[in-house]
Amino acid sequence: MNTSENRKQNGDRRPENRHAVVLGGSLAGLLAARVLSDHFEQVTVIERDVYPETAETRRGIPQANHVHGLLLRGRQVLEELFPGLQDEMIAEGAPLLDMANDIAWHTRAGWGIRFPSEFKVLAFTRPLLDLHVRRRLSQNPRIEMVDNTEVLRLLPDSVENHISGVLVCPRVSGIDRYVAKAISADLIIDATGRGSRAPRWLKELCYEAPEEIVVNAHIGYASRLYRVPENFNGDWTCAYVQSAPPKRCRGAILFRVEGNRWLLTLTGGDRDYPPSDETGFLEFARSLPVPIIYDAISSAEPLTPIKTHRGTENRVRRYERAKQLPENFLLLGDAVCAFNPVYGQGMTIASLGALTLETCLREQARLHPDGSFNGLSLRFQKRLAKVNKAPWLMATGEDYRYPNTDGAGPGVMTKFMHRYMEHVLRLTTRSVAVRSVLMRAFNILVPPAALFQPRVLFRVLLQMVSTRLGGNVNGHPNRNHDRDRSVDRRQPSRKPHAWNIRVSSTQSRRS
Ligand SMILES: Cc1cc2nc3c(=O)[nH]c(=O)nc-3n(C[C@H](O)[C@H](O)[C@H](O)COP(=O)(O)OP(=O)(O)OC[C@H]3O[C@@H](n4cnc5c(N)ncnc54)[C@H](O)[C@@H]3O)c2cc1C
Repeated sequence: MNTSENRKQNGDRRPENRHAVVLGGSLAGLLAARVLSDHFEQVTVIERDVYPETAETRRGIPQANHVHGLLLRGRQVLEELFPGLQDEMIAEGAPLLDMANDIAWHTRAGWGIRFPSEFKVLAFTRPLLDLHVRRRLSQNPRIEMVDNTEVLRLLPDSVENHISGVLVCPRVSGIDRYVAKAISADLIIDATGRGSRAPRWLKELCYEAPEEIVVNAHIGYASRLYRVPENFNGDWTCAYVQSAPPKRCRGAILFRVEGNRWLLTLTGGDRDYPPSDETGFLEFARSLPVPIIYDAISSAEPLTPIKTHRGTENRVRRYERAKQLPENFLLLGDAVCAFNPVYGQGMTIASLGALTLETCLREQARLHPDGSFNGLSLRFQKRLAKVNKAPWLMATGEDYRYPNTDGAGPGVMTKFMHRYMEHVLRLTTRSVAVRSVLMRAFNILVPPAALFQPRVLFRVLLQMVSTRLGGNVNGHPNRNHDRDRSVDRRQPSRKPHAWNIRVSSTQSRRS
């Protein structure tokens, strides 16, 4: 019998003696483990895959082959949880970029204005981030990472409305599931991603499966790594060509990553999936409305085969609406809410989920100094649902621009936002102030309501009036995006570096 069971039988549920188990050891699980280690004596992460010892992709997170941008809010939280992590990654070659200045960003309304800013982002491949986070956790004496082990189901408990642990099976080839063993725990967290089997596990224990909502714009990814050519002399470090549905469902991002490499991800919505063959991949890149990415890669050396991925639907499981959940069973990360990854929100929301866990555990200790978990599960899921709400509305709202998106369809508010955002995007091609606000909202540094603050709203209204009158504010060539599939050879606009702008009210006067 293991220590957790002994403690329970002795009635010893003191917080400092407890054991937490995290199911799934990707980013959401690892960040949760980091938080749990401040509240539990022992934390075990159970991961199905074998963890690689270097920054390599693995089977359980196929998305790691594709561009993974970390939003600024996520970067802040990661640094809070692992001080110095960012410097470690920079030392391994991850470039630190000025998002407003170093990324040539082609929106549906044209090139976003570029200017030196405080929006500093780190560019890396996903395996590099995971490796560094795992290294940090391996130095934490309270955390044990058990890999190559699959979680099979939850185990019932004699204590009402609790579970006692999980049944796991070490994945040793040649041996079948009869060697499954029980791991008992005081708190269990599911972080097994989009494919989480928790709804089924809960039903087996006579709990209701959660309501599930899916919004699918049928977006496909295809990616490949290239060596950056020695003679490359573009004035950008990353290039992002956003899709513009319903007319143009193709997009791409060329991301400079560690090891002097580019990671190119092509995206196609509405089932216009980017292909995995050499010729088709290049043709897809060439069909983008601006040649910036095609021109860059045509002379670059490919370093990997082309990898594709189609599991990109928005999927939310409404655990917060459950009548009942086991008090000591929580769920977070993609297992609860997974987004169309084009908006780069998943890792940041996973990190905010970890912060929410921290808040709830502290609160629980205050409310129940005896160590009881009563009320924890639903309270946590409700808090997490609030964190997920705005990113969900943002991602699904944008996805309803695609002509054949599966889901309930855009409501009045979404349709209004589509029109409003058209104007905002047009403004971001020439207004530093508006682009700064959009970047803050996009990076989850401020709520989306910030897009309606007076300095944005006023400009939008002015532009609407001007458009109605047939004018073209500041002579901006804003009809450019209507030239579907035509190639725009204009270069991205960039303000001189010396124009050193801080994100403050002075911007609104200048732009
Ligand atoms: C194509 C694509 C591109 C993306 N790009 C971005 C981006 O640019 N920016 C961003 O922030 N996010 C991005 N995301 C989202 C991001 O990858 C996830 O949000 C992030 O990995 C957190 O997910 P997670 O840890 O909840 O689940 P996952 O990353 O899916 O991990 C689940 C883990 O659980 C393990 N597991 C599953 N079942 C079991 C079991 N029964 N037993 C044991 N272990 C199990 C798996 O092996 C895996 O390690 C992208 C996603 C996709 C699909």
